[in-house]
Order: sequence, then structure tokens, then C-alpha cells
Amino acid sequence: MQFKPYWQHTAPRFGRAATGPVDGTYDVAVIGGGFTGVSAARHLAKSGARVVVLEADKVGSGASGRNGGHLNNGVAHGFSSAKAALGAERATALYRAFDESVATIERLVAEEGIDCAFRRCGKLKLASKPAHFEALARDFEVVQREVDPDTALLSAEQVRGEVGSTAFHGAMLFGKSAMMHMGRFATGMADAAVRHGATIFENAAVTGRRQAGDKHEIVTARGKVTAREVLVATGAYTSGPFDYFRRRIVPVGSFIIATRPLSDSEIAATMPGNRNCVTSMNIGNYFRMLPDKRLLFGGRARFSATVNQKSDAKSGAILRAGLAQIFPHLADVEIDYCWGGLVDMTQDRFPRAGRADGVWYAMGYSGHGAQMSTYMGIVMADLILGKPDRNPVGGLAWPAIAGYAGKPWFLPMVGLYYKMLDRIR
Ligand SMILES: Cc1cc2nc3c(=O)[nH]c(=O)nc-3n(C[C@H](O)[C@H](O)[C@H](O)COP(=O)(O)OP(=O)(O)OC[C@H]3O[C@@H](n4cnc5c(N)ncnc54)[C@H](O)[C@@H]3O)c2cc1C
Repeated sequence: MQFKPYWQHTAPRFGRAATGPVDGTYDVAVIGGGFTGVSAARHLAKSGARVVVLEADKVGSGASGRNGGHLNNGVAHGFSSAKAALGAERATALYRAFDESVATIERLVAEEGIDCAFRRCGKLKLASKPAHFEALARDFEVVQREVDPDTALLSAEQVRGEVGSTAFHGAMLFGKSAMMHMGRFATGMADAAVRHGATIFENAAVTGRRQAGDKHEIVTARGKVTAREVLVATGAYTSGPFDYFRRRIVPVGSFIIATRPLSDSEIAATMPGNRNCVTSMNIGNYFRMLPDKRLLFGGRARFSATVNQKSDAKSGAILRAGLAQIFPHLADVEIDYCWGGLVDMTQDRFPRAGRADGVWYAMGYSGHGAQMSTYMGIVMADLILGKPDRNPVGGLAWPAIAGYAGKPWFLPMVGLYYKMLDRIR
């Protein structure tokens, strides 16, 4: 078994990082080379700005190269809950931004000629309990009427034509959702950013920053750059002089296994609908087929902020049991990949983007960000360029989490709470 992300292992590496010392004067310094960062850099460079990306590790080495491969529309909490939390206007704007984010990726893939198996496959939100189906049906009515006619409610019997399992009591289908190869997209977007004129430094963790007048000095161990504007796009992996964000973002591990390639008859018995699938439990699972016929199967597994081989293996064992529960015919299937990554959770699980602490930022996608990060990179680039404001979460309050400075000591308790909820509801 490979303890590495499938996406990183099966994509060409980005080979156009700048070499030599980190230096220069730029209009914008982007911190972080995930989807938020490279998408912003590409857009800024294409608009004529001098832009540098400083990435602590490699392009796509954070959540962007470790995720479940879903590009889902719809808000993760359900539209009705989002309306209750944010009000109708902002919840609608957020729903439309998710639609737009999937469309943006489709456009970027075509425009930049990125070979990443992008496909509008649709997403099934699968009801794990009868009561969950009733809740989905209520949400469906509101979604259909108010924001998204491209949805459908599927009975348990209809779901069995989509997913070869008797575990589900129905589903809601979101027709606009898509999937792609995340590693190939990350490399393709970084290549495009460089082609349009951006400079990308890898292995260049930002360790210090100073502001003098209207200039920021951004320091790494390999040298420093000066920039007029700074965009922080460091998500769950935030290190360095960014305490403001570490007090607001909780890194939570999410884990994934991928099987050996399945035979055509196994695929027909497992995923005949070939869509993105997400279960309705609080500690739920997500799964999809990969381009080379493997089944990717992920979930929170354990509430941990540790991602390393030992922790990934423990979570992998839990995921294997979850896979066998949903697909008993795959109980003994060989697992070829097992990995984990950190999700950038906010307290209310809504993303945040704007300007604070002297810098621009976009993060907190809370596990629903492969599409939004790409979109928000462009939205933030436009704000920096003085173009019209399309930020769907602009002005949303973002208080620091009480008693928290970056080490999520409370995660095991949160895990127990959600386990209990899953037992009783
Ligand atoms: C296991 C897992 C499964 C997921 N599944 C899905 C899914 O199926 N669909 C979906 O929509 N979303 C999913 N997500 C979430 C999604 O991947 C993220 O929301 C998205 O990739 C965030 O992109 P980003 O660019 O903001 O952050 P990242 O990709 O995490 O990039 C941040 C980068 O900042 C760098 N960095 C941090 N500090 C510094 C510093 N001081 N100096 C320089 N660089 C720094 C890091 O090295 C990192 O590369 C998943 C996430 C995980 C972990």
C-alpha cells in the first residue's frame, strides 16, 4: 500500500518553480500554493500584475492535493440551514457562488487546456437513515423552488440503480456537481500561472513579515520579497506570522483510501451511476470512482489534527470497515492508497474571505473547498485589482475562537459529540 495521496502520485510534478534566492519587488505576494493561491496568481498575472507565490512545501502539497476529488455545488450544511444561519440573501449568494465555482473550473480547464478528466457527474447526498431522507426531502423542496432546479429527489429504489448498496434510504441529486483529477489540475494551474507571468517559489515558507508604509516585506529562509499587497491563502496548513488566522481556523484531519482498480463487473455492482457520493451522517463518508477505475473512499474517520503515516493507517482501518459496511462485496478488496490531509474548518463551517490584519485572505472552506478555493482566488484577485466585489462572504463576522490559539485540544470532545448525534438522530 502507498501511504501517499493518489493525486500527487499520479500527476506530473510542477516543474517551473523559480530557482535561486527568494527576492524581488512585486505588486502582490500570495502566500500558499494551493488552489486559492495559484488561481489568484494566475488571474493577477493574466491581468498584468507582478505576482509572486511563496509556497512552504510544493504546489498542491496541502489540502488541494489530498482531497476527495469532488467538485460539488450546493452548500455543505444544506440550503435551509444556511438560510437560517446567514439569512436568505447571503445563503442564496453563497449557493450561486458554489454553482459559479464549478463553472469556473470547467472554463479554466478548457481555457488553459488542463488534462484533468473534468466531468459533470452530479452529486448524490445519500440518506443513511429514514429521518435523514425526510430532512433531505424538506431541503429539496426549498432548493428546487428557490435556487436550483437542476436537482432531484431519489427514492431508495432509484438510489440502488446509482449505488450498489442497500445502506441508503434515498438521496438528493445535485446535477451541476463535477469531478476531476486534483493533482493534474494543481500542476496545470501552476503552469498556467507561470505562463501568464507569475513567479512561484516552492520550499519557501514565510517566517516573517513587516509593513513599512504601503509596502510589505515578506521573509523566508531563502530571502525576502517586497510587495504592495499580500494575499494569505494558507488554509489548514497556516504556519509563520499569521496568528490572526490560526486563532480562527481549526485544522481537522480527513482521511482517504483507494482500492485497486476494479473490474467492469465490480464497478457495475458498486457505482453504476458513476457520481460523487456523500453520506448524510455527521461523521460520514464520501466516495467516487477514479479515472483508473479505483474506488476512492474517504471520511473524517477520527477527530484528529495529526496527519502522518501512523495516524493515516489507523484511519485507513476505520475507513476499510466503513467501506465494507456500505459495499459488503468489497470487504476484502486490496487497498492500494491510504492518506490524510487537513481541512480548514471555521466554527460555523462557512468560508471567510476579505481583509484583516493588513492582508487579504480567503480560507475556511471547511471540507467543501476544492471548487470554492479556485473561485475565491479569482474573486480576491479582482478585489486586489480594484474590480467589482463578488465576495459572497464579504463582511461576515469572524471572531477568534475562545480559548484557542491554533492547537485544537477540543477535537476529541467534538468527535464524541458528533458520534453521539449520529447514534440518536
Ligand atoms: C482529505 C480531504 C478531503 C477533501 N475533500 C474535498 C472534496 O472532495 N471536495 C471539496 O470541495 N473539498 C475537499 N476538501 C477541501 C479542499 O481540498 C480545500 O478546501 C482546498 O483544497 C483548499 O485550498 P487552499 O489553496 O485554500 O489550501 P491548501 O491547498 O491547503 O494550500 C495551502 C498552502 O499554504 C501553504 N502554507 C501554509 N503556511 C505557509 C507559509 N507560512 N508560507 C508559505 N506557504 C504556506 C501550505 O504548504 C499549503 O500548500 C478536502 C480536504 C481534505 C484535507
